[in-house]
Formats: sequence, C-alpha cells, structure tokens
Amino acid sequence: MSAPPLLSIVVPVYNEAAGVNDFHYGHLLPALIELGETFEVIYVDDGSTDATRLLVEMIAAADERIRVAALARNFGKEIATTAGIHQARGQATLIMDGDGQHPPSEVHRFVEQWRSGAQVVVGVRTGNQREGVVKKWGSRAFYALFNATSGAEMIPRSTDFRLIDSEVREAFKAFPERQRITRALIDWLGFDRVILEFESPARIAGEATYSVRQLVKLAVNSYVSLSLKPLYFFGWVGGLITALSLIVGLAVTVEQFLLGDPLQLNFTGSALLGIFISFLVGLVLMSQAMLAVYVAHVHEQTQGRPLFVLNRSRSVGL
Ligand code: UDP
Ligand code: MG
Repeated sequence: MSAPPLLSIVVPVYNEAAGVNDFHYGHLLPALIELGETFEVIYVDDGSTDATRLLVEMIAAADERIRVAALARNFGKEIATTAGIHQARGQATLIMDGDGQHPPSEVHRFVEQWRSGAQVVVGVRTGNQREGVVKKWGSRAFYALFNATSGAEMIPRSTDFRLIDSEVREAFKAFPERQRITRALIDWLGFDRVILEFESPARIAGEATYSVRQLVKLAVNSYVSLSLKPLYFFGWVGGLITALSLIVGLAVTVEQFLLGDPLQLNFTGSALLGIFISFLVGLVLMSQAMLAVYVAHVHEQTQGRPLFVLNRSRSVGL
C-alpha cells in the first residue's frame, strides 16, 4: 500500500455506464492533475446492472491512484457513500456524484477552503437550477417545513458535494445507524464549516436514478432521524382539546344544570356528548404523545450515536 494521498475523492456510481468514462477522463482527472496534489479516487459501484463496474475497473487497472469498491448489490447512494468514506485514506476526503452534477472543476475551491482551515466544506447549489417542477418545489417545501418544525436545521440546497477533514471522517465512521442521510450526519457532527456555492450542470448522461418516490422517502427519513418535535406537537394539540372541552363542559354544566339555563342556550344531550367525546379524544392524543416520547427515547438510544464528538485539532493538551 502506497503512502496516503492528500486528497481522497469518493464517488458513488450506480448505472452510470453512459457517462462514467467522460466523467473520469474528461472532467475529474484533468481537474485533479491541474490541482497538482497527491490523490486517490474511490469509485463505489453500488451494484450497477449495466457496465459501470467494468468501466471503473478498467479505469482503475490503468492507474493505481484509482480504486474500486464494488458493493455486492445496490444499497442506495447513502450507504454507497459511507462505504467509500470507510475506504478513504487521504488527509481530506471529497464526496461527489459521478454524473457530473458536482463539477470536478470546483474541486480546487474545496481544497482551498480546507487549506485555509475549514474542517468541513459544504457544497450548496446556487438557485438557478434546471430541475423538474416537482423536485424543485418539493425540495423547497421540505426545507421550509423541516426548518420550521423539526428543531434541527438544514441548509437549503446543500448537497453531498462535501469535503471532510480526516478527523471528521474518522468521527463519521463511528456512526452505526442503518437509515442514514450522509449530509445530515455530517451536519450533526459540527466541526468548523464553510459553505461553498456551486452551479450544478445537467447530468453528463443518463437519467437521475433518484425517483420522486425515493426522494420522498429520503425526506421522511431525514425528518425522522433528525427530529422529535412532531411527536410532541400532537401532545400539545391533545392537551389543548382536553383543556378546551373541560372548560366548555364545566361552563355548560354550571349554566344548564346548576343555574337552570338563564341564557336559554338549551344544550341538547348530543351536544353534551360531543363535548365529552372531544375531552376523551384530547386524552387519547396526549397519551399517544406520551408513548411517542418513550419511543423517541428508545429511538435515540438505539441510534447509538456517540455521546459527544471531540474536535481534536481544535483542542489543547489532549
Ligand atoms: N447513486 C448510487 N446509488 C443509487 C443511486 C444513485 O450510488 O442507488 C449515485 C449515482 O450514480 C450518482 C449519485 O449517486 O453518482 C447521484 O445520483 P443521481 O444523479 O441519480 O441523483 P440526483 O442527481 O437526483 O441527486
Ligand atoms: Mg445527479
């Protein structure tokens, strides 16, 4: 095994046969050569069913700086990325898509930021993107809802195009959870971060393999893995309903039965029953939320995240 390079590039690829050669020889390699640093590229073949694995094997056979991690089947981009990060040996690790949408011409800017001290460099897409209406508005709605309600924060349009320092990478490798969103985990880690805007071009070839359905699943997963707030929300609603029906119920009882209905409201039996039922519904909601809090605690415990993460290179005397 040769000496660890300065830069590791992790590229998950799934059925990218139509574009991967152009990506590598036409874009990534020229950018890395121009950068003039030692590097390795780790292509993670995420169980492609086309010639992708063959193509990256051929790329790697001709160049010892290129490595291929072939997954036994399709595990999805998040896990493929993780697999690549586990293989990386560089002082800095840059994660990027293999379809050209994370332009290799930007690599030097990530490295510059890292050189000036950033431990995490987050690529954020600029606003003027050409994407489908559903994806565009869906993602806007997601970030708005997420940031307003989840209690965690996510930068809109932030991507997996990220550079992490080796210290951050080692901390990342400690995450044991199965349902994972790479960028959310990196966000959770913290460290000294810098945001870098880039313009995302169209794919080199082929179609995005993330369907709208998968994106919805990703959104739900990020939400669930990062946030416990929605669980409490329904508890509050329940509490409100119970309190209101209690007040109304008491008012009606006093007005109708103790004072003999001086306001002539003539509450019927079904109205009273209605009030009683909403009182019970409120109780049910509250107890559900109680249960949810227990589930949340179990959830958090089973996630098994580290209790804290030290920023060693910013600590003194450790
Ligand atoms: N990808 C992967 N496994 C999958 C789906 C996608 O490794 O199951 C890779 C894909 O080859 C590409 C990157 O993840 O390099 C982003 O995928 P895509 O372009 O389909 O998604 P989008 O551009 O919509 O984020
Ligand atoms: Mg893409």
